[in-house]
Order: sequence, then structure tokens, then C-alpha cells
Amino acid sequence: MTFELPELPYAKDALEPYISENTMEFHYGKHHKAYVDNLNNLVKDTEFENMSLEDIIKATVGRPEFTGIFNNAAQAWNHAFFWNSMVPDGGQEPKGELKDRIERDFGSYDKFKEDFKNAAVSQFGSGWAWLVEGKDGKLQVIKTSNADTPLAHGLTPIVTCDVWEHAYYLDYQNRRADFVSAFLDHLVKF
Ligand code: MN
Repeated sequence: MTFELPELPYAKDALEPYISENTMEFHYGKHHKAYVDNLNNLVKDTEFENMSLEDIIKATVGRPEFTGIFNNAAQAWNHAFFWNSMVPDGGQEPKGELKDRIERDFGSYDKFKEDFKNAAVSQFGSGWAWLVEGKDGKLQVIKTSNADTPLAHGLTPIVTCDVWEHAYYLDYQNRRADFVSAFLDHLVKF
């Protein structure tokens, strides 16, 4: 099996002005593509060759001899999930059951946004901020470093924001907080 770069769910310029077409050209077309290409090279002729991305992530997490495979598989998965965490004209409050669960577990949607922004801004170095469902069924905001993904730890991802510098530096330079605010106010899709 060969992994393929998934289609973007919108045009490369669809998230402007919050994420530029230039950023998408590099982030999707170069960074995400490189993770997929690297993974294909790394799993060729190995026990992982015919496994799903999700199974590779779960089989390689925490195993130092497979760090390269884990990193590229997790980054391939995380990026596909990130593109699907956004939509043009996003940033609307969730409705229905998810709205009720956010209010139950965070107190309010505004408190969820505050917690998510804090996690995204305080992640030291490269990584990701996530809304996940825990093993107890409660919603939580977490952050992960580098390629790490909640999928590898028995958590169910709901939404993510990439806070690697490559996600925002062309548009926001060092202003990660402004990027995260734009994500929450204008892009996030539940
Ligand atoms: Mn990225």
C-alpha cells in the first residue's frame, strides 16, 4: 500500500485572509506531502507496509527503533485531521450534543476557547492543541509536542490546531496567539 496526500477539503486560498494561499502551498504542498513521502519510503518492505495510518501510529508509539515511522505517520494523520478541523467562515459555536457537552465539561464555550488558546500558546516549541474526548467520555483540551497525537494515547480527537511555526510564520511571524485567535474565531469547524 502506498499512502497518498489526501485532497484538501477546500481550495488553497479558501481560508484567506486568516491563512494565506502561500502558507497552504508550503504547509500542505510541501510539509504535509513530505511526511507522506517519507512514510512511504520508511515503511517499504517492513511489517508496517500494509497497515493503516492509525494502526502504524498505535504500533510504533513509544518504540525508539521506530521513531521515524511514528513521527511521519502521526504527522501525516495530524495534518489531514487539521485540514478537516477548519472551514471557510468557520468559528461558529457548535450546536446540539457537542454544545451541551462543551458547556457541561468546560462551563461555557468561551471557557473552552480560553483553555484551547492557552494550550496552543503555551505549547513550548512545535506541537498541537486539541479538543479530545477522554477515556471517561469527558471532553478535554490538551497539547502535544512535535508529532505526538492523542490517537496514540487512547483519546478521541475532535478538533486540532497546528502550532508548529510552519503553520503560521509566513502570515503571523512570531504572533502565535493571533493565529490561534483567528483559528478559533474564523476557521474552526466542529
Ligand atoms: Mn504542520
